[in-house]
Formats: sequence, structure tokens, C-alpha cells
Amino acid sequence: MTVITRFAPSPTGSLHLGGARTALFNWLYAKNQGGKFLLRIEDTDLLRSKNEHKEQICDSLRWLNLHWDSDIVYQSKNVSEHVKIANLLLDKGLAYKCYCSVEDLKKEKEAALKKKIPYKYSGKCRNIKEPLSDKFVLRIKVPDTGLLKLQDRIQGSVTVDYNNLEDFIILRSDNTPTYMLAVVVDDYVMNISDIIRGDDHLTNTFKQIIIYNALEWKVPKFSHIPLIYGSDGSKLSKRHGAQSVLEYRKERFMPEALNNYLLRLGWGHKDKEFFSVDEAIKLFNIEGIGKSPSKFDKIKLESVNTYYFKRLKSEQVLNILSPKHKQNDSKKLLALIDLFKSRAENINDIEDGISYMQSDNIDRYSDDALKIINSADKKIMLDTINELEKISLWQATSIEEVIKSKVKKHNLKMFDIAAPIRASITGKTFSPSIFLVLEKLGKKVSIDRLKKNFD
Ligand code: GLU
Ligand code: ZN
Repeated sequence: MTVITRFAPSPTGSLHLGGARTALFNWLYAKNQGGKFLLRIEDTDLLRSKNEHKEQICDSLRWLNLHWDSDIVYQSKNVSEHVKIANLLLDKGLAYKCYCSVEDLKKEKEAALKKKIPYKYSGKCRNIKEPLSDKFVLRIKVPDTGLLKLQDRIQGSVTVDYNNLEDFIILRSDNTPTYMLAVVVDDYVMNISDIIRGDDHLTNTFKQIIIYNALEWKVPKFSHIPLIYGSDGSKLSKRHGAQSVLEYRKERFMPEALNNYLLRLGWGHKDKEFFSVDEAIKLFNIEGIGKSPSKFDKIKLESVNTYYFKRLKSEQVLNILSPKHKQNDSKKLLALIDLFKSRAENINDIEDGISYMQSDNIDRYSDDALKIINSADKKIMLDTINELEKISLWQATSIEEVIKSKVKKHNLKMFDIAAPIRASITGKTFSPSIFLVLEKLGKKVSIDRLKKNFD
């Protein structure tokens, strides 16, 4: 049987890391099995569903290179099919009309509370033969006794007693399907063979299997992935770092890195840390998904990002530079990239460097840089600047010569002169070789920046 997986986000917010990992696992599994990966937008909650969220989700998936096969399926477009199936269940006597008002149900709940037993709808409308009114919901008949067993590919065998489940609603009184029914019908219509999703859906799964069984539809294979938590063990939230995928794009993480990080967050293959896309597709399997929750660790994500960044050629770095850093021609930019690349951990480091190399002024000095500038010996600095001004062939070697001679003359260490120079021309306390930076910056700009700080 062909494997068909799906990612089924609700467009009620942007795509977060947990969702991105679910999408990734579904995508990889489909690719690994030579199957298909489909995207379904679960937009039946008309109040909370927003087109902009849908766009953001699709953008995020595209950025992560998780492309879906076939057109997007919109759950809202299948409503008539959902309603049809609900009525089919009614006709077959597998669902029934419940006329209970909110008040009636409240009374039932209060009674349960008094008795200190968990509330469950009594099923009192199950045997009503004659219609009581036009206002009703459809509830599915849950078998009275027995055990419902789910063979989950990650969680193993999970069992629930039918007795603990109530006859739940499949069609609301306004004739709209509930999520529980819509998901099952859509997955069936889309021929989904494998459902891979967060384990927060585990309890829904039992209800969904009841619908599958009532309709005598083949139950897909389920894999419920343990959730991702923050490093402190609490639910992943803003506090643990940016949450939405697009925020990571804004922070300039590489999509390859985010994918690799998410892949390793909950899945493993021996001790292997880094996977090319082809390797990931080849090796991915459900058996490799762990049973325990994963912890999000931004530092680790950053280091994975650095790993990928370090492997880029200068031309590739040029390609990912943001437009505002592309003021110069490619040749100049490549020279700047080469200057910063060996020390850069990510694209931001390169862009920071390019910024101070391209702009007329330093717009921001770090506190440490200011400290160094303020504690430098002004006289010695002026003496050095004077000498630098006399250089006719502005090259790293000649600049180095001048600075070294000043170090010697004033009986200092290289740092005493180089550090204030670096701080005043870059605004930072670290940079590539200061002689090279001065050379590339050009004589005029260099001298201007130095004078601005020491004159
Ligand atoms: N729309 C659901 C959600 O966003 C997912 C449904 C499913 O995967 O079955 O959580
Ligand atoms: Zn009822």
C-alpha cells in the first residue's frame, strides 16, 4: 500500500517548532517510503482561522523545504461530506439525536460532581424514537463495554475502556461537524495511511477510531510523537526563545540547520549528529523516534547552525546576504566575506562586519569597545594616527609596520595600540586581523574613524 502522510495544521496561529517537527517527520517518512506528503488546512473554526496564518504556515513550510504533493486540502471545503457521513451514521443507527439543552447537561455535571465521579454524558437520548424538536446534536454511540486498543507505533499498545468514554458529538446543532468527525472523514477521503502527530492528540485518537470502526473504514497507522518542552521541563513557550518558524528565519538561522536540529529532537540514528537531506530521507524511520519528551535547547540549535554555516562557500554566503548588505558589487562583497568568514559563526557575524566596512560611520559601539577607547593613551594614539597618515601605499604590511614601530617606540604590547584601533574602526572588540580590516576599509575612512575617536 502506498504511504500517504499529511500535516494538518489549524490556521489559528503561526507554525511553531513542534508543528514544524511534525511536518518534517511526516515529510521524511513519506519520502523514505516513496509515498506522498499532503497538506490539509483545518480551517473549520471560522472565528479563529485566519488567512494570514495559513500564509505564514505555508511560507514556513516552503522555507524549510517541506513541499507538499498535490494541492492543499481545505477542511472547510469538505463540510458537506462530513455532514453526509454524520447522517449516514444516524441512518445506520450508529449515531443518534441528542436534544439535551445546556441546562440539562449542566444538571448531569453537577450530579456527577456531587457523587465525586468523573462526568460523562449519560446517553439518555439514545433511545428516543420520536423527534422532540428541530434542535439537536448528533452523538455517536460508543460501545457499552469492552476495551479499545490502539497499537501506536511509538507509544506501543494503549488501551481504554469504552466505559470511560461518552457518546461524543459529531454534528453540532447548527449542522456543523465537530473536529473529531471532520478529521476522520478527511483522512479517509485523502487515503491517509499513516498519521504522525503530537501525543497531545492521543485521547482524540480513541474517539476517532470509534468513528472508523462504526463506518467499517480501515484505521490508519498511528504514531504519536512526544512533545517538545523547554530546557526547564515546562511547556515550550516564548520564554525559551523564539517560537514561530518565521522568527527563526528572521534571526537568520539556516533552514537546513533548523531541520537537522528538529530531526534530532526526538529521533536518532546511532550517534550520528548531522544528516544531509538525502541521508535523512534514507535513514528516517518511525522506530528511531524516542518515547520520552524532548528538550528544546537554543544553544544547541545555534551550534548546529554554525556547523552548517561553516560549510558554506563564499558564493553561497553571498547568496544569503540580505539585500540591504548588498550595496557593493559582488567582487567587493566576496572579498569582504572572505575577510570575515573564518571567524564568523553565522550570517549575522558576516553582515555585522560588512555593515561597518560599508557604512560611513559606526552607528553603535559596544560598551567594551567604548571602554577600550576611553582608556587608551590619547597621545600615543595620535602619534600612531599621524604616522599612519603618512603611509603612501595603504596595505596591511605597511600598516602593520607602522603600528609595530609605535609599539616598540613606546615600549608597549601590541594589544595596547591594536585594541583601541580595532574598537574605534569597528565598534567592537573582536574582528579579523586589524591590519587587513584597515587595508580593506581604505585610508580615508580609517583615518577619519580614528581621528573621530582620538582627536
Ligand atoms: N489540526 C490539528 C492541530 O493543529 C491537528 C490534527 C491532526 O493532526 O490530526 O493540532
Ligand atoms: Zn441528550
